[in-house]
Amino acid sequence: MAALSRALFMHRINLLSQRLANQIAAGEVVERPASVVKELLENSLDSGATRLDIDVEQGGVKLIRVRDNGTGIQKDDLALALSRHATSKIKELADLESIGSLGFRGEALASISSVSRLSLQSLAAAASDGLAWQVQVEGQDMEAAVTPVSHPEGTTVEVRDLFFNTPARRKFLRTEKTEFGRIEETVKRLALSRFDVQFTLNHNQRSAHQLQAARSDFEKQRRVGLVCGPAFVENSVFVDMERAGLRLWGWVSLPTFSRSQADLQYFYVNGRIIRDKLVAHAIKQAYRDVLFHGRHPAYVLYLELAPAAVDVNVHPTKHEVRFRDSRLVHDFLFSALHKALAEVRPEDHIAASADAAEAPANQPHSGASDDFYQMESQKPLTLSESSSVHQLSDYSRSAERGQYYQPSAQPRPQLDSLAKLYEADEEIPPLGYAIAQLHGIYILAQNKDGLIVVDMHAAHERITYERMKAASLNEKLKMQPLLVPVSIAVSQTEADCAEEQRETLLGLGIELERVAQESIVVRQVPTLLKDSNVEQLVRDVLSDVLEYGSSERIQAHHDELLSTMACHGSVRANRHLTIPEMNSLLRDMEATERSGQCNHGRPTWVYQSLDALDKLFLRGQ
Ligand code: ADP
Ligand code: MG
Repeated sequence: MAALSRALFMHRINLLSQRLANQIAAGEVVERPASVVKELLENSLDSGATRLDIDVEQGGVKLIRVRDNGTGIQKDDLALALSRHATSKIKELADLESIGSLGFRGEALASISSVSRLSLQSLAAAASDGLAWQVQVEGQDMEAAVTPVSHPEGTTVEVRDLFFNTPARRKFLRTEKTEFGRIEETVKRLALSRFDVQFTLNHNQRSAHQLQAARSDFEKQRRVGLVCGPAFVENSVFVDMERAGLRLWGWVSLPTFSRSQADLQYFYVNGRIIRDKLVAHAIKQAYRDVLFHGRHPAYVLYLELAPAAVDVNVHPTKHEVRFRDSRLVHDFLFSALHKALAEVRPEDHIAASADAAEAPANQPHSGASDDFYQMESQKPLTLSESSSVHQLSDYSRSAERGQYYQPSAQPRPQLDSLAKLYEADEEIPPLGYAIAQLHGIYILAQNKDGLIVVDMHAAHERITYERMKAASLNEKLKMQPLLVPVSIAVSQTEADCAEEQRETLLGLGIELERVAQESIVVRQVPTLLKDSNVEQLVRDVLSDVLEYGSSERIQAHHDELLSTMACHGSVRANRHLTIPEMNSLLRDMEATERSGQCNHGRPTWVYQSLDALDKLFLRGQ
C-alpha cells in the first residue's frame, strides 16, 4: 500500500513556484559569496561603469555591496531586473553570435535574490526627472515594492544574509578568510580584464585593494604587478602577436620563474576570463621544452578574435568557450608563445637585470617567497628593447618606459681597465669571456658589467639538443660511422625492439644491427654525439623506445628522445675545458634558442652585476 501511494504521489506534477524555480537555478549560478560578487561586478561592467566600489562583510555572507557609476536601471525595469530570464542584453538568438556583454542569461539577479535579502538602488542616466528608486526583496517573498531613494547616477546592489533560507548551501561555506580570498580572486580576475576601470575592495570596513584606472602601458603593468605580485612582472616577457585575425598579448613568466601550482594563470578571450583545456594544452606545450618537471608557468594573457569565432554560451558560469576553429587557435597560441620563449636571450636577461639593480627597492633575495623557483640573476627581459619579442608591442616605444627602466648608468672607471683587456674586440659579448673553470663544473666569465657563472653541462646539453632538433627537422641529422663498431649485450626484448624499430632509430641518427639473440652492434651515431659514451647512449634510447611502445608514440616523443641523446653528448662534469673551448661554448649559448634553461628546465647560467657584488661587500655605502 505504502509503495502504491508513493508511486501515486510521484506521478502528480506540480508547477514549481517561480521562487522555487529560481532557488533551484541559483544552485548553478550562486555557489558561494564570490559567485555573487562576480555576477554583480559583471552587471556593473555591462552597464558601462568606470568605477566599482565593493564592500564585503564577514567573507560576503553578511554583506556584499557593489556600487557602480554605470547607466543605471529605469524605474519601470527595476522589478523586472529581478525576475528570471529578464535581460536587456539580448533580444533574439542571433544576438548570441556577437555577444559583447558579460551577462546575457538574465538569471543572476533572480537567483541571488531568491537566496538572500537583496536591495537594488538605481538612478538611470535616462531618467528625465532625475529621481532614483529602489526595490527590495527577501528570499521567498516575491513582493518587490518600488520606493524613492537618494542615489547618484549608477546602481548599488546590496546582498545581505546570503543563503539565510537555504541552510544546506550555507553548510558548504568555508571560513570567512577562505570565502573572502575567493572574492579577492574574483575581483583580481575582473581587474585584469578591465584596466580602464577603477576598483576598490573593502572587507569588514578595511581597505583590501585600491586599483586606480590604468591607461598608459606603464600603469597597466603596474596593475599587473599589484594583482600578481611584483616578482611576476619582473620575471616575465611581454608578448604581442597577431596572425590571421587573432591577437595575443600579455605577460608570460620566464621558465626560470615557475610555480608549484597552476594558480597564477589568467587567460582572457575577448575580455572574458576562461579556463579552457585547449588553451591550457597549447600553453603547456609551448613551455614543455623549458620548464622544470612538475612546475607551472605563470601568465596573464589576452586573446582577441572576432566574436563570431567563439561561442561563449557553453556553460552557465561561462568559464568555458568553444572556438569555431580550435586548431587554428591552438596552433597560434602554441607558436606565438613558443617563439617568445625561444627568443629569450642572455642579453635580454642581463640588460634588464642591470636596470633592476638600480631600482632602490632591490631587497635581499633570501626573503623571497619560496614558492618561486627563480634565479634572481636571470632577471627579466621585460620590456627590454633588444628583444624581438617586443617587436609588435607598443611597450618598447612607450614614453613611460624610460621612467621605469632607466638606461644603464655611465660606465664606471674600473671598467675602463677591463675594457682594455679586450681592446681587439669592438664589443664585449653579453656572456663575456671565460676566466676559469670551477671544480670541473662551472665556467666563470666576466662581461662588461659583472660576473657570469655557467653550468657547462646544462648549457652544452641545451645547445646540443637545439642543434639536434634543428638538424632532424631538416632531416640532416648527420651520422658518423664508428671506427670500431660497438657491440652491446642486451636483453632479448631490447634486441627485438632494436630490430623492429631499426628505421625509427636511423631517423634518430643511430644505425645498429642485431647480431645475435641478445646482442646488437652499433655502427653509426649522430656526428653531434660522436664523443659520447655510445653504449650508454644507445641503452638509454632503447629503453625510452621500449617504453613508448608503438611507432606513433615514439614519433610523438621524438623531441624527448633527442633530449635524452643530447644529455649524453654533452660535456660531463670534471672534463677540463680550455679557455677557447669555454669561450666558444659561451658564444654558442648566445646564439642558441632557449639557452637560458637546460632540457630539464634548470637555469644554465646566473649573473651578478658589479653593483650587486658591491652591495655584497657593502662597498660605497
Ligand atoms: P543578465 O546580466 O544576464 O542580463 P541579470 O540577472 O544579471 O541578467 O541582470 C538582469 C538585468 O538587470 C540586466 O540585463 C540589466 O539590464 C539590469 N542590471 C543588473 N545590474 C545592473 C547594473 N549594475 N546597472 C545597470 N543595469 C543592471
Ligand atoms: Mg548579469
